[in-house]
Formats: sequence, C-alpha cells, structure tokens
Amino acid sequence: MIIVMQPDADEKAIEAVEAKILAHGLQVHISRGTERTLIGAVGDERKLDPEMFDPMPGVEKSMHILKQYKIVAREWHKANTVIDVSGIPFGADTVQVIAGPCSVETAPQMAAAATAVRAAGARLMRGGAFKPRTSPYTFQGMGVDGLELLRTAADAQDLPIVTELMDPRMLETFLQYYVDVIQIGTRNMQNFDLLKEVGRTNKPVILKRGMSATLNEWLMAAEYIAAGGNHNIIFCERGIRTFETAYRNVLDVTAVPMLKRETHFPVIVDPSHAGGKAWLVPALACAAVAAGADGLLIEVHPNPCEALCDADQALTPDEFATLMRQLAGVARAVGRNL
Ligand code: PEP
Ligand code: MN
Repeated sequence: MIIVMQPDADEKAIEAVEAKILAHGLQVHISRGTERTLIGAVGDERKLDPEMFDPMPGVEKSMHILKQYKIVAREWHKANTVIDVSGIPFGADTVQVIAGPCSVETAPQMAAAATAVRAAGARLMRGGAFKPRTSPYTFQGMGVDGLELLRTAADAQDLPIVTELMDPRMLETFLQYYVDVIQIGTRNMQNFDLLKEVGRTNKPVILKRGMSATLNEWLMAAEYIAAGGNHNIIFCERGIRTFETAYRNVLDVTAVPMLKRETHFPVIVDPSHAGGKAWLVPALACAAVAAGADGLLIEVHPNPCEALCDADQALTPDEFATLMRQLAGVARAVGRNL
C-alpha cells in the first residue's frame, strides 16, 4: 500500500502513519520528494485498508498496490483451474451447457425437461426450488419438494443438478439431496454470510454476478468462498443493469475475457436472464461462446407458456436443440468443443 502525504504534511503526521503501518506488522519505506512524501507499506498489505489512513492528518490519499483478491487471482495461479462437477470438467476444452427450467413445478414438467435437455446435449440440469422473486406474492418455488423432483428427474437422465441456495439454513438439506452445484444468485452475490457458509463446504459453487456489481466486487465475493477453503468456484455472468430498458439486462460480454484474465477459475454465461426474451437467447449464447465462456446456463421449459417463472425467456425443447447445433459450430470456430 502507498500513502501519499499532502505537500504540507509535517513530520508528526509522517511518523503517525509510519507507526500505524509498523503496528500492523509491515515494514515502512519512505520516499521524500521535492513536493511530497510517499510512504510505502511493505509486507502483507491485505491487512491494511485505505480507510485506515485517509482520515489521518496530512494524508492526501492511500491506495493498494496488490489486488485484494488472492486465491482467485490469476496473478498467483497462472494455469486454468478445471472444476470437476460430478465428473464433468468446467474450464477445460469443452464448453459445458447447463439447461432446464427456471423453476421446478411438476414431476411431468421436470421429466420432460430432463429428457429434452439431455437429448439435445446438455451435460447438467438446472431448476430452482427456492426462487428469489421480486414480489412476495408470486410463486416462490416448491422448496424441498422441488429439490426432490429435480433430483429424481435429473437422475433418470444421469444429469448432475444445479440449483439456487438463498438461505444458509437450507445448506444441510442441499447436501442431503446431493445437489451437485450450489448456485448463488445475482441478488445474493454479496450476502457475505451465505458466501462464508458455502465456503465451508467443498461443493462446486456457481457465483452469479450481482446485477450492479463491478468485476472487482464479484472477484472479492468469490474470494470469500475461496478463503473458507472451497476452491470449486465457477463465475457466471448473467447481465447487468444499465440505462437501457429495451431488454431485461445487458449481457456484459466484455466481462468474459476480462474475468478470465483476472481469475484462473471457469467463467460461464447465462444468456437467459441477460436477454429476458427467448428470441434473444441464441444470439447472446453464441456471443458468449465466441468470447471464451467455459459454459452456458440456459432456461428451457417443455411448455414456456405455462412456466410459473420467467416464461418469456424460456426456450422450447426444439429451440434449445437448434441452438445446441449452432453453438457446436461457434465452439469449434474458437477451438473448443461442445
Ligand atoms: C435463476 O437462475 O433462475 C436466477 C434467479 O438467476 P439470477 O440470480 O441471475 O437472476
Ligand atoms: Mn429464471
């Protein structure tokens, strides 16, 4: 960390900064220029924060030199980390597709969805049993019964399952149902207690980007999971809020190569929640694969008109099968498989 002193900072102010750095176990390196003094804190600067120095007399500003995320940073781990999700590798040559309905609704719906997504080539199945809805009066998900239906339908097709955890009190239940991947949704990206809880398990976690989160905030959220000991993290870009209102969110395609540069963990894309319209999903999915995404999370419903959640963005089984064929070509063009 570097602390830049104001031009008129006196020796007392410089000494106070120095004392604070030493008290935290770091070394001090002072550089006296003609205009101002720079104080360097040498050592594990993650213990320090600009907030500790900025209010002190004589300090103009202070800043970190190192990135605040460590375990997730590519800086410290050059090779791609491949996450093994129940035998399916994320972050290797193959672009992995997770598909299924937004929410678990009925046994026939789940059976039809599982058969369709498997037949089209998806390797994992999604389905929400606990739904984060904007209104408390809309369908909230089937809860534990939904986990059961998801597990049964996916098992029949030999598909691992991905489902969202909203409440840390449900974590044990998720583990009992052998949920293969825990999804942390956009609204919970900075629910730090939830992140710490999943950090204590070794279950793969899909960490969706907060709809208004910067890449740095997203990486720091992942660092919470990693710091707890769980290094099975998959990032998922799902669109962000901007001034544009013509579509649900803006798919931040730029985030894919940028994030892959910053972290060694896999990065996947959810084109469904980004576009919010089924007809937009193919274009966004192709763009994501072209940009280097390691996987896709796509909403597919056997009968979108009857979906209890996100009906407008769900692909039909036929649309999904067509998209999978298209994606195979895009993946090949960028040196990947599907
Ligand atoms: C979902 O995947 O169904 C979901 C609610 O996603 P998000 O958290 O990205 O809105
Ligand atoms: Mn949804």
